[in-house]
Amino acid sequence: MGKLLIVGTVAFDAIETPFGKTDKILGGAATFISLSAAQFGVNSGIVSVVGGDFPKSYLNRLNARNISTEGIEIIEEGKTFFWSGRYHNDLNVRDTLTTDLNVLANFNPIVPDSFTETDFLMLGNLHPNVQMAVIKQLPKKPKLVVLDTMNFWMDNTLDELMEVIAKIDVITINDEEARQLSGEYSLVKAAQKIFTMGPKYVVIKKGEHGALLFNEENIFFAPALPLEEVFDPTGAGDTFAGGFIGYLAKTDDISFENMKRAVISGSNLASFCVEKFGTERMEVLTIAEIQQRLLQFKELTQFEIELS
Ligand code: AMP
Repeated sequence: MGKLLIVGTVAFDAIETPFGKTDKILGGAATFISLSAAQFGVNSGIVSVVGGDFPKSYLNRLNARNISTEGIEIIEEGKTFFWSGRYHNDLNVRDTLTTDLNVLANFNPIVPDSFTETDFLMLGNLHPNVQMAVIKQLPKKPKLVVLDTMNFWMDNTLDELMEVIAKIDVITINDEEARQLSGEYSLVKAAQKIFTMGPKYVVIKKGEHGALLFNEENIFFAPALPLEEVFDPTGAGDTFAGGFIGYLAKTDDISFENMKRAVISGSNLASFCVEKFGTERMEVLTIAEIQQRLLQFKELTQFEIELS
């Protein structure tokens, strides 16, 4: 089993959906990624920053799942990153109401000694300079580096982002972001263009329509499980990424065949994340529930056909 280092936000989120709203609850990309990867029992650690207002009990909730928080700097006199968003009746559409960077504004990440030799590195959605600062602290390149990013960084820090993209193995982005990054409408052409930027694998997330995995020779498609109820989509993309890299770290196999299983694992875990507010569902999830839903995935996609 490989060691996994995760860089990303650890945050307070306040969420409004058509079904209700929350006060400040535990959120952040690194939080969702780590809780998802933890389902595979991997030895993971987070590099992030929080303020003195961040409850120790939240850190304990992560520690309880074998997630090291040694790399989460606590700035006692500062405030934790805060994000709030409101979803429309169409849950695919959300408005960001607040993004208070707070302690994240001047974040200088420090990788703890115990994780400088990590096997897997997950660069969660953050300023590309922070992602690069972490890459530079690792004395040797990990077996696999996965990057998650978003249109915000493409709009505002494209040059820095391109430098990071040149150094990673797998990029996970949504369909619109893939089109923006590549300037191509066809996702197949978009992936081909992104290969020229550095990554060997491209994962394009299509929300409730599943995800595509590309390398130069192959394409694989994983559906999202059609759910009866979606309650709060916050963190679904991060949970997908955490499931993807968590599965690869657990199996310690980065072949394309295994990445197909990793994409399914990511989709599977994301399907749970959206059932409750924030991290609520992921914190009570059992192995039996995960296995049972994997069977549903198999049934959903398996068919027999005779080729004449
Ligand atoms: P997702 O639903 O996958 O976009 O992820 C939502 C999580 O990302 C929330 O828990 C937020 O705290 C965090 N988040 C929101 N905006 C940003 C941002 N600009 N940079 C980093 N993390 C963010």
